[in-house]
Amino acid sequence: MSGQPMFGQMMDRPLLISGLLEHAETTHPGTEIVSRRCEGDIHRYTMKEAAGRARRIANLLHRFGIEQGERIATLAWNGYRHYELYFGVSGYGAVLHTINPRLFADQLVYIINHAKDRWIFVDLTFVPLLESIREQIPQVEGFVVLCDEAHMPDTSLPNVHCYETLLAQEPDEFVWPEFDERCAASMCYTSGTTGNPKGVLYSHRSTVIHAMSSIGQEMLGLASTSCFLPVVPMFHVNAWGTPYSAAITGAKQVFPGPGMDGASLWELIEAEKPDLLLGVPTVWLMLLNHMDSIGKKLESVQNVIVGGSAAPLSMIRDFQEKHDAFLIHAWGMTEMSPIGTVNAHNIHMESLPLEERYQLQAKQGRPVYGIEMKIVDDDGHDLPRDGEARGRLLVRGPWIVSGYYRNEDRSSFIDGWFDTGDVATIDANNYLHIVDRSKDVIKSGGEWISSIDLENAAVGHPQLTECCVIAARHEKWAERPLLLCVRREGSQLTEQDVLDYLSDKVAKWWLPDAVVFVDSLPHTATGKLLKVNLRTEYENYLLEQA
Ligand code: ADP
Repeated sequence: MSGQPMFGQMMDRPLLISGLLEHAETTHPGTEIVSRRCEGDIHRYTMKEAAGRARRIANLLHRFGIEQGERIATLAWNGYRHYELYFGVSGYGAVLHTINPRLFADQLVYIINHAKDRWIFVDLTFVPLLESIREQIPQVEGFVVLCDEAHMPDTSLPNVHCYETLLAQEPDEFVWPEFDERCAASMCYTSGTTGNPKGVLYSHRSTVIHAMSSIGQEMLGLASTSCFLPVVPMFHVNAWGTPYSAAITGAKQVFPGPGMDGASLWELIEAEKPDLLLGVPTVWLMLLNHMDSIGKKLESVQNVIVGGSAAPLSMIRDFQEKHDAFLIHAWGMTEMSPIGTVNAHNIHMESLPLEERYQLQAKQGRPVYGIEMKIVDDDGHDLPRDGEARGRLLVRGPWIVSGYYRNEDRSSFIDGWFDTGDVATIDANNYLHIVDRSKDVIKSGGEWISSIDLENAAVGHPQLTECCVIAARHEKWAERPLLLCVRREGSQLTEQDVLDYLSDKVAKWWLPDAVVFVDSLPHTATGKLLKVNLRTEYENYLLEQA
């Protein structure tokens, strides 16, 4: 195109996290935030109080001599103190490093040193964890325990302070600084099933745009009338960005603290009546089991957002038929802030018979505006959006990682796209279906079998609590599926029972070559099946049986 560009005449105001908080304080001052605390009780306050305390945090960081861009870490459950830190730390201009306490000790040491965290704000629960690695993280200057004086633990941590005492000493006046919206606001490390975790550095701009795009009715569907319970942790991928979305919309938040089991969640749900729940499938399995055992219904809940791993059809059905709740399937990754696609109730579902609607809900949904996605073959050529072709899933957009923190590895970055490591199909309406992680898919005689689909079909059996499918070496077919299952207590289910159950649910050639019953299955720090070790352990299982 020839000629000079003509620019619009609009203000160029930076998109900053402090701006979200100022909006929340002035527009939704009375919005309630309810938290179950580590101390065991329930705490309530308003958005206005959260904003005042976030300013005290900024004053505290100033007194600590923290400079722009330096890292302040948290090791904490979902709760109001963590919420204040989200805004106080990033708003001040420092970088909030949320640490996943479920990482192995050597991974914790690695990421704390790699991020060069200056201070760590820690919940009571995780004080012993830090004590155990203290010697290996010498550059951390001090620790702040998230409690009041009465609950301060007797700890060997050096330079340790009480959060409430420190905050009480600070004024709640602070003028948020203005800086480039592309500055880093927070960071999160991937849980790294192989090798060291990799750091993803979110910017103010990416965080705000991600929040703005994900609140809509066919996305998270948040509004000032909503009340939501994020079980998805604030220590991993910013609880799917919901702390920020809540600041925009004024939705009430109910934080579960350390109580992620079915009974504790139900107690909170019954008391606070959230209409929306968010979390990974394993948490919902526990809640559904608990509800079955007490014979009650989740009356207030209208929607349950499920992501992190594929939601099984049986879960979609259980929420709908037992609890009148719609399961919104979503997909994303740490590298994507994390939301990529959401499958909320929409026009395509209106006229579908229930069973067909369930099938559609089992897909991971359509992209949030701002996310572009495509599938490619092994040579990088685009594949059609026909719902059939399976290929490597690439994405790009304003809240997708462009490089890892202090890490030279560029193998996932291809011509401006990020390779997700997932294999997927995309259909004519842009519905994404995750077939598998590329390293988990089973290549049987040149054809692919989805381990996810097989697992989800098997776990529908009422006597199985968890299932895992891995590729085992096979003389004729190169690889064949092997199914590892955990039986419900007291169950006498046999291999043949499982195969019979699966026979009308998957294609015949997908049926596992062997079913092995195990007592438990290993998980990653984010609650997903950890398949690497199982693959090594069972790699030769079929060859040995033959
Ligand atoms: P980690 O927790 O291991 O750091 P992420 O949380 O970033 O990793 O996980 C991202 C991956 O999780 C995706 O690439 C995909 O394989 C899987 N995943 C996330 N949501 C879904 C979903 N709804 N269905 C299937 N797989 C999913």
